[in-house]
Amino acid sequence: MPVANAKEMLLEATRKKYSVGAFNVTSLVQMEAVVEAAIQMRSAVIIQTSVTPAKFFKPEVLAAAYRALAQASPYPVCLHLDHCTDPEFCKRCADAGYTNIMIDASLEPFERNVEITKEVADYCHRTGDITVEGELGTVLGVEDNVKVSGGQVALCDPDKAEEFVRRTGIDIFAPAIGTAHGVYKSEPKIDFELFARIAEILNGREIRAPLVIHGGTGLSDEVTRRLVGLGGSKFNVSTELKHVLMDATDGYLAGHLKDYNPGKLDAAVFAATLEAIRRWMDILGSAGQY
Ligand SMILES: [Zn+2]
Repeated sequence: MPVANAKEMLLEATRKKYSVGAFNVTSLVQMEAVVEAAIQMRSAVIIQTSVTPAKFFKPEVLAAAYRALAQASPYPVCLHLDHCTDPEFCKRCADAGYTNIMIDASLEPFERNVEITKEVADYCHRTGDITVEGELGTVLGVEDNVKVSGGQVALCDPDKAEEFVRRTGIDIFAPAIGTAHGVYKSEPKIDFELFARIAEILNGREIRAPLVIHGGTGLSDEVTRRLVGLGGSKFNVSTELKHVLMDATDGYLAGHLKDYNPGKLDAAVFAATLEAIRRWMDILGSAGQY
């Protein structure tokens, strides 16, 4: 399938009440596993990179690998830039071939957030068929270079959500509802009512902006399914895949360090990642939708 942006796949997911997994990768092995899982599960999928790996590998290199992988899948695959606070780097990734860009100006005051997000949305829409995700409210924890401490956490103001989407022109909306980045140290305090209200305001009559859930790692299956049922149609999973990569690497090397066979190490990481993603696709309900 040719490369795809997130809009169509997420409109479809919102209509059918399932969610597309958006999986953060830091290596080509993980990227291959994400796409292979999608093919095996007959699912749409979103490959995400944070800013640091995007800079490390270079956006052009990641986009080229993504294009080759997407061509090999019969189902839609997107490449998404996660939590980028720098409009110029957002634009570079859009130019390089990312199909979705998240501009995260959520730590800025409302008017400035609107201004920065709109600048990126306008650029991406002018450049090509590139969709944009914006965030209102702040998500607790650390995601790459974006760090939000307890004192900075602010849930999304539902009365501002419609205005934010309308004025920025974004395609996909991430409201802060109490989920967090990283590993949950205690039961997360998710405001389901708030999320339901935002879903009703934005997508109750017609679907204006599919909704994104950040901080998927560590949520129980029950909480995940509830958020999907309320309209979360893009579900971000990052920390879990970092753990899977490191644990699979550690597990393999513990018994095979002196084999000096990196191909087998890659295979171990691939298998563990594949399994984790297949599990998510089942819970999110995206499996078997194509
Ligand atoms: Zn996030």
